[in-house]
Formats: sequence, C-alpha cells, structure tokens
Amino acid sequence: MTKLKVLLASSEVVPFAKTGGLADVAGSLPLALEECGVDVRVIMPKYASVKVQADSTTIGKNVLVYFVKNDNYFDRKELYGDKFGDYKDNLDRFVYFSREILERCKRENFAPDVIHCNDWQTALVPVYLNTIYKYDPFFANTKVLYTIHNLAYQGLFPKEEYPKIGLDWVLFNMNCFEFYDKVNLMKAGIVYADAISTVSKTYSEEILTREFGCGLEGVLKNRESVLYGILNGIDYNIWSPEKDTKIFKNYSSDSLQDKYLNKECFQKEMGLKVDRNIPMFGMITRLAEQKGADFVADIIDRLLNMKAQFVLLGTGDNKYHLIFEKVAKKYPSSASISLKFDAVLAQKIYASSDMFFIPSRYEPCGLSQLISFKYGTIPIVRQTGGLKDTVEEFDPHTGKGTGFTFIEQRSEDLFAAVKKSLAIYKDKPLWMSLVKYVMSLDYSWKASAKDYIGVYGKILKNR
Ligand code: ADP
Repeated sequence: MTKLKVLLASSEVVPFAKTGGLADVAGSLPLALEECGVDVRVIMPKYASVKVQADSTTIGKNVLVYFVKNDNYFDRKELYGDKFGDYKDNLDRFVYFSREILERCKRENFAPDVIHCNDWQTALVPVYLNTIYKYDPFFANTKVLYTIHNLAYQGLFPKEEYPKIGLDWVLFNMNCFEFYDKVNLMKAGIVYADAISTVSKTYSEEILTREFGCGLEGVLKNRESVLYGILNGIDYNIWSPEKDTKIFKNYSSDSLQDKYLNKECFQKEMGLKVDRNIPMFGMITRLAEQKGADFVADIIDRLLNMKAQFVLLGTGDNKYHLIFEKVAKKYPSSASISLKFDAVLAQKIYASSDMFFIPSRYEPCGLSQLISFKYGTIPIVRQTGGLKDTVEEFDPHTGKGTGFTFIEQRSEDLFAAVKKSLAIYKDKPLWMSLVKYVMSLDYSWKASAKDYIGVYGKILKNR
C-alpha cells in the first residue's frame, strides 16, 4: 500500500521557531503521524532562529523539514513583528512563503495527497491551488486541510495591498477575500480549503456563534459540513518531568518529594521565600487580551496577602507589562515576574508550581493545562474552548475532576476558584491524590493523530 503523503505547512515549528501553541503542534503532530505510517513532511520559513545551514533537516525518526529561505523576508529575530508592531511587509512575506510551499513541492518532486495548512500565514495555499495551480497536473490529486489555531488572527491587510497576492480583483469580493473593505487571508482560506478543522470540539462549535466567530461565523457556517474539532496533543518526550533536562531534578508521581525540591530550588533562584508549603500559582502566557491576565491582576493583592506566591512568565502588550512590573515591585518576595519569552524558565515553572492560571476569555485548545497536568500542577481555568474539554471541576466528595474552573469573565469568579483550590491544597492527602491523578492523564498525540488521518481520508474520498 502506498503511504499517505502529507505536507504540514506552518509559519512556526518547534524546535526551530516558536511564539505560541502553533509551533508546538507543528513540531509534534508530524512525529505522531510518522508513527502512524504517514509520509509526512514539514515546511516553514527560515528565520534567524533556524540554526541549520542546509535548506532542509529532519525531526523525529525521519520527518523532512523544508526551510524556505529569503533573507530579506525571514532573516529576522522576531517572526511577525517587533516592538513597533507587525512587520509592514507581512503580506509580501507570507505570499512568498505560500507560493514557495507549492513550488518547493514541485522542486522536491513531492506531490502531497494533503497539504495541511495552519492559520492565516498559509491560508493562501488552498486559494492558489484553486486558481494559479488549478490545471497544474502536479497537484491534480492534492487536497487541503486548513486548521485554525486562533480565529482572532486572520491576516488582515489594507485593500491597497491586494495586488501583492497576485490574483485577479474579481476575488476581492464578499464571498472570498473581502472583509469590511480589507483583505482577509483566513476568510479566503476557509472558502477554498477542502476541509477545515480547529483545535478542540468546543471551539469548533463556539466559532459558529457571533460571540466567538470574530466576524467569520457566517463563512464558517457555510462550511459546517466539513468543519472538524480535533484536540491538540502534546509531545511527552519534551513535556515530561521524568525526562525534562531543564528542571532541577526529575520526578514522577512516585517521587513527588522531588517536585517540591524543584519548587524550593526555583524559589531560591527567583528570590522568593523558600518554603515548600507556600502554595505557588504559575502563569505562562502571551500577554494579550485573550488570556485574561487582567483577571489575575485584579485579585493579586488578595492572593498574595493569603500567603501564596505568584510566578508569571509572559510577554506581549505593554499595558500588561506595566501592570505586572508594579506587582513585581510591590511583592519582591512573593511574586516573580519575568516579562520575556523563555522556554527553559517555562519548564521550571511548570515543574515548580502547585496551581496554574489559565483564565482565558477564549481558548481554542490551550496547551498549558495539558503540560501542567503532566507536571502535577493543577490548572485553574475559565470554562471555554479546549479548556472546557480538558479540565473538569474537582469534586472533593467524589475525588473526581482535574482542576478548578469558573464560567463568567469575572475576577471574582476566578478568586472563588482560587479559594476552592487553596481549601483542597490544605488537605494534603486529597491534594496529593489529585496531583497523582492528573499526572496519569494521557494527552499524547496518539488519539488526535488518528483523528487527523480520519479527516485526511474523508477529504481524499472526494477526489
Ligand atoms: P497560544 O498559542 O494561544 O499562545 P497555547 O496554550 O496553545 O497558547 O500555547 C502556548 C505555548 O507557548 C505553551 O507551550 C506555553 O508554555 C508557551 N509560552 C507562552 N508564553 C511563553 C513565554 N513567555 N515563554 C515561554 N513559553 C511560553
């Protein structure tokens, strides 16, 4: 039997470049697909962070990763913008990347059955396949799955930039690129893809509503029959306290005393009061409106006056930087605030924290709660999107559940969840049973990779 051929196209891929969860997914789903016997390859831009000299390399056992080189566009430290905002030439950059995805296939003589595109940066691929490459025999059997990791980032550009895409103005209409007089790449991708998926079942339903649809709910509704929700997994070769080389001491659910050793070492390193009994709340996030860091800021005084510690690692909107710089000044021995991106520090925080804040306004999937589980760190989440699908309210009477949750977008409700967590934290045997239970959960890619293969199969049936 010939192998299914899949090209996963992503603007960021772990371990080469990362700003968020997309990179984790693009770096780990292919490895799981490879395990399932798929001939999967990956393509991404060659940013300054890609230290490989050649124009390709391999990850996993033998997954080829193609780098698209154009130093003018990609030899930059940041991926999409710097402190002055988005790069002004982002449309040129991702038009170039999208065209190169198709051209590279031809040069490598790799005609994929499915090109698996992700987010706005690769949304043009299904459009080009149905226009410029429509009669190209090389792609006669190629279909596209388009995965939305975050509907809020659509790739919006001024109408005047439309010619850069290289397509006729006819397509600048309400049923394709046009979105309130702007160019919307994601919208066109949704229209032209053979199937669309997003990263949890709940989010796939939420995005059909006005509240979560970001103006694209109508377009998505038209494609509902080919819209799927597949939960992200995580790679336990990277995210595992037993194997993690960046934490102070490895541990498992059988050696939890070593989790608390990590906590003490971390407290020392960050200048916090060293005491394993003080509950430590972690948070690692892009500091954007979506993530609800303001809810945490609202309750921070009450939290830290209850003999708790707060550890934040995040970067993003200046507004949040200012808020948390003040917190750092006010609580030098109980708050550790790191306003940057730091993959190593992140691993230490997952290992050292007792609880983990994810109070998102919306959350397509969320990876932090899955990582937290593995490190025995209990998530406190708002019930939305993938958080709703993965974190179940802990019930002290039955001992069932995996975290603490709240529903409304209110700081008070977050605080109520914090109080619930602290009450259980005091009951050491109960807390330890909860910690051990979440560590045993399996959110590896195994199941989700099979779901993706199922969707690829459905698309290909219609060839
Ligand atoms: P999103 O993709 O919306 O940012 P996810 O929860 O899907 O959110 O994925 C976020 C990923 O990025 C996680 O692996 C998280 O640990 C990581 N991350 C977020 N902010 C930082 C940071 N400042 N430093 C290191 N890792 C971060």
